[in-house]
Amino acid sequence: MRAAESIDVLEHTQAGHLLTAGGRCIGVQAHDFTTQATLFITARATALATGGVGGLYRVTTNPPVITGDGLALAYRAGARLADIEFVQFHPTALAAPGFPKFLLSEALRGDGARLRNARGEAFMKSYHPLGDLAPRDEVARAVTSEMKAAQQPFVYLDLAPIGKQRLEERFPAIVRACREHGFDVPDSPVPVCPAAHYTMGGIDVDLDCRTSLPGLYAVGECSCVSVHGANRLASNSLLEGIVFGPRCAAAMTREQQPAEADCREVISAGFRLVDVGSGFYHDLLDIMWDNMGVVRSDATLRGAIQFLAHTSAKVGPSTVPTRYGIEQANGLLLGKLMAAAALNRWESRGAHYRLDCEETSDQLRQHTIAYRGDDGAPVIEFRPVELQRTRFEH
Ligand SMILES: Cc1cc2nc3c(=O)[nH]c(=O)nc-3n(C[C@H](O)[C@H](O)[C@H](O)COP(=O)(O)OP(=O)(O)OC[C@H]3O[C@@H](n4cnc5c(N)ncnc54)[C@H](O)[C@@H]3O)c2cc1C
Repeated sequence: MRAAESIDVLEHTQAGHLLTAGGRCIGVQAHDFTTQATLFITARATALATGGVGGLYRVTTNPPVITGDGLALAYRAGARLADIEFVQFHPTALAAPGFPKFLLSEALRGDGARLRNARGEAFMKSYHPLGDLAPRDEVARAVTSEMKAAQQPFVYLDLAPIGKQRLEERFPAIVRACREHGFDVPDSPVPVCPAAHYTMGGIDVDLDCRTSLPGLYAVGECSCVSVHGANRLASNSLLEGIVFGPRCAAAMTREQQPAEADCREVISAGFRLVDVGSGFYHDLLDIMWDNMGVVRSDATLRGAIQFLAHTSAKVGPSTVPTRYGIEQANGLLLGKLMAAAALNRWESRGAHYRLDCEETSDQLRQHTIAYRGDDGAPVIEFRPVELQRTRFEH
Protein backbone atom coordinates (compact mmCIF):
# COMPACT_ATOMS: atom_id res chain seq x y z
CA MET A 1 0.00 0.00 0.00
CA ARG A 2 2.78 2.40 0.91
CA ALA A 3 4.38 1.79 -2.47
CA ALA A 4 1.22 2.76 -4.35
CA GLU A 5 1.35 6.43 -5.37
CA SER A 6 -2.43 6.61 -5.51
CA ILE A 7 -2.81 5.68 -1.82
CA ASP A 8 -2.15 8.04 1.10
CA VAL A 9 -1.77 6.21 4.42
CA LEU A 10 -2.68 8.30 7.48
CA GLU A 11 -1.11 6.73 10.57
CA HIS A 12 -2.56 7.26 14.08
CA THR A 13 -5.65 8.78 12.52
CA GLN A 14 -9.10 7.63 13.53
CA ALA A 15 -12.26 8.02 11.50
CA GLY A 16 -14.89 9.38 13.88
CA HIS A 17 -17.80 10.59 11.79
CA LEU A 18 -19.19 10.21 8.28
CA LEU A 19 -19.92 13.42 6.38
CA THR A 20 -23.34 13.44 4.74
CA ALA A 21 -25.21 15.89 2.52
CA GLY A 22 -28.45 15.46 0.60
CA GLY A 23 -28.93 11.92 1.87
CA ARG A 24 -25.55 10.60 0.72
CA CYS A 25 -22.15 10.06 2.27
CA ILE A 26 -19.59 12.52 0.95
CA GLY A 27 -16.59 11.61 3.09
CA VAL A 28 -15.26 11.23 6.58
CA GLN A 29 -14.18 13.36 9.50
CA ALA A 30 -11.14 11.97 11.27
CA HIS A 31 -8.82 12.90 14.11
CA ASP A 32 -5.04 12.81 13.77
CA PHE A 33 -3.73 11.87 17.21
CA THR A 34 -0.17 12.89 16.36
CA THR A 35 -0.95 16.52 15.49
CA GLN A 36 -4.39 16.67 17.21
CA ALA A 37 -5.77 18.01 13.91
CA THR A 38 -9.31 17.35 12.75
CA LEU A 39 -9.34 16.19 9.14
CA PHE A 40 -12.21 16.47 6.68
CA ILE A 41 -11.79 14.13 3.74
CA THR A 42 -14.42 14.38 1.02
CA ALA A 43 -14.78 11.75 -1.67
CA ARG A 44 -17.12 10.54 -4.36
CA ALA A 45 -17.24 7.19 -2.54
CA THR A 46 -16.24 6.22 1.00
CA ALA A 47 -15.50 2.63 2.08
CA LEU A 48 -15.39 1.43 5.67
CA ALA A 49 -12.96 -1.47 6.26
CA THR A 50 -12.62 -1.23 10.03
CA GLY A 51 -12.93 -4.90 11.01
CA GLY A 52 -15.39 -6.53 13.40
CA VAL A 53 -16.32 -6.01 17.06
CA GLY A 54 -14.08 -8.62 18.74
CA GLY A 55 -12.17 -5.97 20.71
CA LEU A 56 -15.36 -5.11 22.62
CA TYR A 57 -15.04 -8.40 24.51
CA ARG A 58 -12.89 -9.04 27.58
CA VAL A 59 -11.62 -12.29 26.08
CA THR A 60 -10.80 -11.99 22.39
CA THR A 61 -8.37 -13.05 19.69
CA ASN A 62 -8.76 -9.64 18.00
CA PRO A 63 -6.39 -6.70 18.41
CA PRO A 64 -7.71 -4.08 20.88
CA VAL A 65 -8.37 -1.55 18.09
CA ILE A 66 -11.03 -3.76 16.51
CA THR A 67 -13.99 -2.24 18.34
CA GLY A 68 -16.64 -1.92 15.66
CA ASP A 69 -16.00 1.76 14.85
CA GLY A 70 -17.20 1.37 11.27
CA LEU A 71 -20.52 -0.14 12.36
CA ALA A 72 -21.15 2.72 14.78
CA LEU A 73 -20.22 5.37 12.20
CA ALA A 74 -22.45 3.79 9.57
CA TYR A 75 -25.38 3.44 11.99
CA ARG A 76 -25.13 7.06 13.15
CA ALA A 77 -25.03 8.24 9.53
CA GLY A 78 -28.26 6.35 8.81
CA ALA A 79 -27.01 3.11 7.22
CA ARG A 80 -28.47 -0.26 8.16
CA LEU A 81 -26.68 -2.95 10.16
CA ALA A 82 -27.45 -6.64 9.73
CA ASP A 83 -27.23 -9.75 11.93
CA ILE A 84 -25.21 -8.02 14.64
CA GLU A 85 -26.13 -10.63 17.28
CA PHE A 86 -23.98 -13.24 15.49
CA VAL A 87 -20.46 -13.20 16.91
CA GLN A 88 -18.25 -16.25 16.55
CA PHE A 89 -16.31 -17.44 19.59
CA HIS A 90 -13.21 -19.50 18.90
CA PRO A 91 -13.15 -22.40 21.37
CA THR A 92 -9.41 -22.70 21.96
CA ALA A 93 -7.59 -19.48 22.77
CA LEU A 94 -4.58 -19.84 25.04
CA ALA A 95 -5.85 -19.08 28.55
CA ALA A 96 -2.82 -17.05 29.59
CA PRO A 97 -2.78 -13.41 30.70
CA GLY A 98 -2.80 -10.86 27.90
CA PHE A 99 -4.99 -9.16 25.35
CA PRO A 100 -5.59 -10.39 22.70
CA LYS A 101 -5.43 -14.10 23.37
CA PHE A 102 -3.17 -16.29 21.27
CA LEU A 103 -5.16 -18.65 19.07
CA LEU A 104 -4.58 -22.41 19.14
CA SER A 105 -5.70 -23.47 15.69
CA GLU A 106 -8.32 -26.16 15.02
CA ALA A 107 -5.66 -27.90 12.95
CA LEU A 108 -4.24 -29.16 16.27
CA ARG A 109 -7.45 -31.06 16.97
CA GLY A 110 -7.50 -32.14 13.33
CA ASP A 111 -4.11 -33.72 14.02
CA GLY A 112 -5.30 -35.53 17.13
CA ALA A 113 -5.16 -33.05 20.04
CA ARG A 114 -7.92 -33.63 22.62
CA LEU A 115 -9.85 -31.29 24.88
CA ARG A 116 -9.88 -32.47 28.49
CA ASN A 117 -11.74 -31.17 31.52
CA ALA A 118 -10.41 -30.50 35.02
CA ARG A 119 -10.62 -34.25 35.80
CA GLY A 120 -8.57 -35.07 32.71
CA GLU A 121 -11.55 -36.55 30.82
CA ALA A 122 -11.84 -36.10 27.03
CA PHE A 123 -15.36 -34.63 27.08
CA MET A 124 -16.26 -33.61 23.53
CA LYS A 125 -17.81 -36.96 22.49
CA SER A 126 -20.44 -36.50 25.17
CA TYR A 127 -21.48 -33.19 23.59
CA HIS A 128 -21.34 -33.92 19.84
CA PRO A 129 -20.93 -37.00 17.61
CA LEU A 130 -17.97 -35.34 15.87
CA GLY A 131 -16.20 -35.02 19.21
CA ASP A 132 -13.26 -32.60 19.12
CA LEU A 133 -13.96 -31.85 15.46
CA ALA A 134 -17.48 -30.52 16.07
CA PRO A 135 -18.30 -27.01 14.71
CA ARG A 136 -16.79 -24.02 16.51
CA ASP A 137 -19.97 -22.92 18.24
CA GLU A 138 -20.62 -26.44 19.59
CA VAL A 139 -17.08 -26.78 20.93
CA ALA A 140 -17.13 -23.26 22.42
CA ARG A 141 -20.35 -24.05 24.31
CA ALA A 142 -19.06 -27.43 25.51
CA VAL A 143 -15.86 -25.80 26.78
CA THR A 144 -17.92 -23.08 28.50
CA SER A 145 -20.09 -25.71 30.15
CA GLU A 146 -17.06 -27.70 31.42
CA MET A 147 -15.43 -24.51 32.71
CA LYS A 148 -18.60 -23.65 34.58
CA ALA A 149 -18.92 -27.17 36.06
CA ALA A 150 -15.33 -27.08 37.30
CA GLN A 151 -15.53 -23.39 38.25
CA GLN A 152 -12.26 -22.72 36.54
CA PRO A 153 -11.59 -20.28 33.67
CA PHE A 154 -10.19 -22.87 31.25
CA VAL A 155 -10.13 -26.50 30.15
CA TYR A 156 -7.06 -28.24 28.78
CA LEU A 157 -5.88 -29.00 25.27
CA ASP A 158 -3.80 -32.16 25.31
CA LEU A 159 -1.29 -32.03 22.45
CA ALA A 160 0.42 -35.32 23.34
CA PRO A 161 -1.53 -37.42 20.77
CA ILE A 162 0.12 -35.40 17.97
CA GLY A 163 3.59 -36.50 19.03
CA LYS A 164 6.50 -34.19 19.81
CA GLN A 165 8.29 -34.36 16.46
CA ARG A 166 5.18 -33.83 14.35
CA LEU A 167 3.98 -31.03 16.64
CA GLU A 168 7.27 -29.15 16.35
CA GLU A 169 7.42 -29.63 12.59
CA ARG A 170 3.81 -28.75 11.80
CA PHE A 171 3.07 -26.06 14.40
CA PRO A 172 6.33 -24.25 15.29
CA ALA A 173 4.64 -20.89 16.08
CA ILE A 174 2.13 -22.52 18.42
CA VAL A 175 4.84 -24.56 20.16
CA ARG A 176 6.91 -21.38 20.64
CA ALA A 177 3.96 -19.40 22.04
CA CYS A 178 2.99 -22.18 24.47
CA ARG A 179 6.55 -22.58 25.72
CA GLU A 180 6.98 -18.80 26.08
CA HIS A 181 3.96 -18.89 28.38
CA GLY A 182 5.56 -21.68 30.41
CA PHE A 183 3.67 -24.69 29.00
CA ASP A 184 6.05 -27.46 28.08
CA VAL A 185 4.12 -28.93 25.15
CA PRO A 186 3.38 -31.68 24.36
CA ASP A 187 4.26 -33.07 27.81
CA SER A 188 2.04 -30.58 29.66
CA PRO A 189 -1.54 -29.88 28.58
CA VAL A 190 -2.31 -26.27 27.64
CA PRO A 191 -5.11 -24.27 29.32
CA VAL A 192 -7.58 -22.97 26.72
CA CYS A 193 -10.83 -21.00 26.76
CA PRO A 194 -13.26 -19.57 24.21
CA ALA A 195 -12.62 -16.04 22.91
CA ALA A 196 -14.55 -13.61 20.70
CA HIS A 197 -13.12 -14.13 17.24
CA TYR A 198 -15.22 -13.08 14.25
CA THR A 199 -18.23 -10.84 13.59
CA MET A 200 -20.66 -12.47 11.16
CA GLY A 201 -22.97 -9.45 11.14
CA GLY A 202 -22.00 -5.92 10.23
CA ILE A 203 -22.96 -3.11 7.92
CA ASP A 204 -25.67 -4.35 5.59
CA VAL A 205 -24.30 -4.39 2.02
CA ASP A 206 -25.23 -5.72 -1.41
CA LEU A 207 -22.96 -7.85 -3.61
CA ASP A 208 -21.03 -4.70 -4.64
CA CYS A 209 -20.51 -3.72 -0.99
CA ARG A 210 -22.95 -0.79 -1.26
CA THR A 211 -24.55 0.10 2.06
CA SER A 212 -28.08 1.48 2.37
CA LEU A 213 -26.57 5.01 2.50
CA PRO A 214 -25.68 6.18 -1.04
CA GLY A 215 -21.96 6.89 -1.47
CA LEU A 216 -21.00 4.65 1.47
CA TYR A 217 -19.45 1.19 1.02
CA ALA A 218 -18.30 -1.40 3.53
CA VAL A 219 -15.95 -4.30 2.93
CA GLY A 220 -14.31 -7.05 4.96
CA GLU A 221 -15.32 -8.05 8.46
CA CYS A 222 -17.16 -4.78 9.22
CA SER A 223 -19.61 -5.55 6.42
CA CYS A 224 -22.37 -8.10 6.30
CA VAL A 225 -22.57 -9.29 2.72
CA SER A 226 -24.10 -12.33 4.35
CA VAL A 227 -21.87 -15.07 3.01
CA HIS A 228 -21.22 -16.44 6.51
CA GLY A 229 -24.80 -16.77 7.71
CA ALA A 230 -25.04 -17.31 11.45
CA ASN A 231 -21.87 -19.34 11.75
CA ARG A 232 -18.81 -18.66 9.60
CA LEU A 233 -16.64 -21.56 8.51
CA ALA A 234 -12.95 -21.15 9.36
CA SER A 235 -10.82 -19.29 6.81
CA ASN A 236 -13.73 -17.95 4.76
CA SER A 237 -13.10 -14.33 5.66
CA LEU A 238 -9.93 -14.12 3.59
CA LEU A 239 -11.88 -15.64 0.71
CA GLU A 240 -14.58 -13.02 1.26
CA GLY A 241 -11.96 -10.27 1.03
CA ILE A 242 -10.56 -11.65 -2.21
CA VAL A 243 -14.01 -11.84 -3.82
CA PHE A 244 -15.64 -8.67 -2.53
CA GLY A 245 -12.65 -6.30 -2.21
CA PRO A 246 -12.26 -5.86 -5.98
CA ARG A 247 -16.04 -5.66 -6.46
CA CYS A 248 -16.22 -2.87 -3.89
CA ALA A 249 -13.40 -0.92 -5.56
CA ALA A 250 -14.94 -1.32 -9.01
CA ALA A 251 -18.35 -0.11 -7.85
CA MET A 252 -16.82 2.89 -6.05
CA THR A 253 -15.20 4.16 -9.24
CA ARG A 254 -18.67 4.52 -10.77
CA GLU A 255 -19.84 7.08 -8.17
CA GLN A 256 -20.14 10.83 -8.91
CA GLN A 257 -18.11 13.54 -7.16
CA PRO A 258 -20.11 15.35 -4.46
CA ALA A 259 -20.98 19.00 -5.15
CA GLU A 260 -18.30 21.40 -3.90
CA ALA A 261 -20.89 23.57 -2.19
CA ASP A 262 -22.10 20.56 -0.16
CA CYS A 263 -18.54 19.75 0.90
CA ARG A 264 -17.87 23.35 1.96
CA GLU A 265 -21.09 23.51 3.94
CA VAL A 266 -20.53 20.21 5.76
CA ILE A 267 -16.92 21.05 6.57
CA SER A 268 -17.70 24.52 7.86
CA ALA A 269 -20.42 23.06 10.11
CA GLY A 270 -17.82 20.64 11.54
CA PHE A 271 -18.88 17.96 13.97
CA ARG A 272 -17.95 17.19 17.50
CA LEU A 273 -16.64 13.63 17.49
CA VAL A 274 -18.62 11.44 19.83
CA ASP A 275 -16.27 10.77 22.72
CA VAL A 276 -17.27 9.75 26.22
CA GLY A 277 -14.03 9.70 28.19
CA SER A 278 -12.29 6.48 29.13
CA GLY A 279 -13.27 5.55 32.68
CA PHE A 280 -15.40 2.46 32.12
CA TYR A 281 -13.71 0.58 29.30
CA HIS A 282 -13.16 -2.59 31.33
CA ASP A 283 -16.77 -2.61 32.54
CA LEU A 284 -17.88 -2.48 28.93
CA LEU A 285 -15.64 -5.41 27.95
CA ASP A 286 -16.82 -7.39 31.00
CA ILE A 287 -20.51 -6.89 30.34
CA MET A 288 -20.11 -7.86 26.69
CA TRP A 289 -18.26 -11.03 27.67
CA ASP A 290 -20.46 -12.00 30.61
CA ASN A 291 -23.86 -11.07 29.16
CA MET A 292 -23.47 -11.16 25.36
CA GLY A 293 -20.99 -14.02 25.11
CA VAL A 294 -20.97 -17.70 24.13
CA VAL A 295 -24.38 -18.24 25.77
CA ARG A 296 -27.06 -15.61 26.44
CA SER A 297 -30.53 -15.42 27.93
CA ASP A 298 -33.31 -12.93 28.37
CA ALA A 299 -31.90 -12.02 31.79
CA THR A 300 -28.29 -11.50 30.67
CA LEU A 301 -29.33 -9.48 27.62
CA ARG A 302 -31.67 -7.24 29.58
CA GLY A 303 -28.91 -6.82 32.16
CA ALA A 304 -26.49 -5.71 29.42
CA ILE A 305 -28.97 -3.22 27.97
CA GLN A 306 -29.70 -1.79 31.41
CA PHE A 307 -26.02 -1.46 32.28
CA LEU A 308 -25.12 0.15 28.97
CA ALA A 309 -28.08 2.56 29.09
CA HIS A 310 -27.17 3.52 32.65
CA THR A 311 -23.52 4.06 31.67
CA SER A 312 -24.48 6.10 28.59
CA ALA A 313 -26.60 8.37 30.77
CA LYS A 314 -23.73 8.88 33.23
CA VAL A 315 -21.00 9.86 30.78
CA GLY A 316 -20.83 13.09 28.85
CA PRO A 317 -18.78 14.14 25.83
CA SER A 318 -15.16 14.90 26.58
CA THR A 319 -13.58 18.12 25.33
CA VAL A 320 -10.53 16.66 23.58
CA PRO A 321 -11.18 13.51 21.56
CA THR A 322 -9.18 10.46 22.58
CA ARG A 323 -8.96 7.12 20.84
CA TYR A 324 -10.41 5.31 23.86
CA GLY A 325 -13.16 7.88 24.27
CA ILE A 326 -14.29 7.49 20.67
CA GLU A 327 -14.06 3.70 20.83
CA GLN A 328 -16.03 3.59 24.05
CA ALA A 329 -18.77 5.80 22.67
CA ASN A 330 -18.99 3.44 19.72
CA GLY A 331 -18.80 0.38 22.00
CA LEU A 332 -21.65 1.64 24.18
CA LEU A 333 -23.82 2.20 21.14
CA LEU A 334 -22.97 -1.15 19.56
CA GLY A 335 -23.32 -3.08 22.81
CA LYS A 336 -26.87 -1.78 23.20
CA LEU A 337 -27.74 -2.55 19.58
CA MET A 338 -26.21 -6.03 19.70
CA ALA A 339 -27.98 -6.90 22.94
CA ALA A 340 -31.30 -5.58 21.59
CA ALA A 341 -30.87 -7.66 18.42
CA ALA A 342 -29.99 -10.76 20.47
CA LEU A 343 -32.98 -10.18 22.75
CA ASN A 344 -35.25 -9.83 19.74
CA ARG A 345 -34.06 -13.17 18.30
CA TRP A 346 -36.08 -15.55 20.43
CA GLU A 347 -34.27 -18.72 19.34
CA SER A 348 -30.81 -20.27 19.14
CA ARG A 349 -29.14 -20.27 15.74
CA GLY A 350 -25.47 -20.74 14.86
CA ALA A 351 -23.29 -18.66 17.14
CA HIS A 352 -26.29 -17.01 18.83
CA TYR A 353 -27.21 -19.40 21.63
CA ARG A 354 -29.89 -18.64 24.19
CA LEU A 355 -30.11 -20.78 27.30
CA ASP A 356 -33.77 -19.84 27.68
CA CYS A 357 -34.62 -20.78 24.10
CA GLU A 358 -32.43 -23.54 22.74
CA GLU A 359 -34.49 -24.45 19.66
CA THR A 360 -34.06 -22.99 16.17
CA SER A 361 -37.26 -21.45 14.85
CA ASP A 362 -38.24 -21.82 11.16
CA GLN A 363 -40.11 -18.54 11.43
CA LEU A 364 -36.94 -16.72 12.47
CA ARG A 365 -34.94 -17.84 9.46
CA GLN A 366 -34.57 -14.13 8.82
CA HIS A 367 -31.92 -11.45 8.96
CA THR A 368 -31.92 -8.94 11.78
CA ILE A 369 -31.80 -5.39 10.46
CA ALA A 370 -30.96 -2.50 12.81
CA TYR A 371 -31.17 1.17 11.91
CA ARG A 372 -31.76 4.56 13.41
CA GLY A 373 -35.45 5.47 13.26
CA ASP A 374 -36.75 8.93 12.35
CA ASP A 375 -37.01 9.80 16.06
CA GLY A 376 -33.37 8.76 16.61
CA ALA A 377 -34.32 5.57 18.47
CA PRO A 378 -33.03 2.22 17.18
CA VAL A 379 -35.34 0.08 15.09
CA ILE A 380 -34.71 -3.68 15.12
CA GLU A 381 -36.66 -5.75 12.63
CA PHE A 382 -36.46 -8.93 10.59
CA ARG A 383 -35.97 -9.31 6.84
CA PRO A 384 -36.55 -12.64 5.06
CA VAL A 385 -33.46 -14.56 3.99
CA GLU A 386 -33.18 -14.85 0.22
CA LEU A 387 -30.73 -17.52 -0.80
CA GLN A 388 -29.10 -16.89 -4.14
CA ARG A 389 -26.43 -18.65 -6.13
CA THR A 390 -24.19 -16.08 -7.79
CA ARG A 391 -21.41 -16.52 -10.28
CA PHE A 392 -18.95 -13.61 -10.47
CA GLU A 393 -16.93 -12.98 -13.62
CA HIS A 394 -13.82 -11.00 -12.66
C1 LIG B 1 -5.99 -14.57 15.39
C2 LIG B 1 -6.82 -14.56 14.15
C3 LIG B 1 -6.64 -15.54 13.19
C4 LIG B 1 -7.41 -15.54 12.03
N1 LIG B 1 -7.21 -16.52 11.10
C5 LIG B 1 -7.91 -16.49 9.95
C6 LIG B 1 -7.68 -17.45 8.93
O1 LIG B 1 -6.84 -18.33 9.07
N2 LIG B 1 -8.42 -17.36 7.80
C7 LIG B 1 -9.37 -16.40 7.61
O2 LIG B 1 -10.02 -16.36 6.57
N3 LIG B 1 -9.61 -15.48 8.57
C8 LIG B 1 -8.90 -15.50 9.72
N4 LIG B 1 -9.16 -14.56 10.68
C9 LIG B 1 -10.15 -13.53 10.42
C10 LIG B 1 -9.55 -12.47 9.50
O3 LIG B 1 -8.21 -12.23 9.87
C11 LIG B 1 -10.33 -11.16 9.60
O4 LIG B 1 -11.68 -11.41 9.33
C12 LIG B 1 -9.78 -10.16 8.60
O5 LIG B 1 -8.43 -9.84 8.89
C13 LIG B 1 -10.59 -8.88 8.64
O6 LIG B 1 -9.99 -8.00 7.73
P1 LIG B 1 -10.51 -6.51 7.59
O7 LIG B 1 -9.58 -5.87 6.61
O8 LIG B 1 -11.95 -6.50 7.33
O9 LIG B 1 -10.30 -5.87 9.03
P2 LIG B 1 -9.00 -5.83 9.95
O10 LIG B 1 -7.91 -6.67 9.41
O11 LIG B 1 -9.50 -6.13 11.32
O12 LIG B 1 -8.51 -4.34 9.82
C14 LIG B 1 -9.29 -3.26 10.26
C15 LIG B 1 -8.41 -2.03 10.26
O13 LIG B 1 -9.22 -0.87 10.46
C16 LIG B 1 -8.56 -0.03 11.40
N5 LIG B 1 -9.59 0.79 12.06
C17 LIG B 1 -10.57 0.39 12.91
N6 LIG B 1 -11.32 1.43 13.29
C18 LIG B 1 -10.81 2.52 12.67
C19 LIG B 1 -11.15 3.91 12.66
N7 LIG B 1 -12.17 4.40 13.38
N8 LIG B 1 -10.40 4.76 11.91
C20 LIG B 1 -9.35 4.30 11.18
N9 LIG B 1 -8.98 2.99 11.14
C21 LIG B 1 -9.71 2.12 11.88
C22 LIG B 1 -7.85 -0.97 12.35
O14 LIG B 1 -6.79 -0.31 13.01
C23 LIG B 1 -7.36 -2.05 11.37
O15 LIG B 1 -6.12 -1.68 10.82
C24 LIG B 1 -8.40 -14.55 11.85
C25 LIG B 1 -8.59 -13.56 12.81
C26 LIG B 1 -7.80 -13.55 13.94
C27 LIG B 1 -8.02 -12.47 14.96
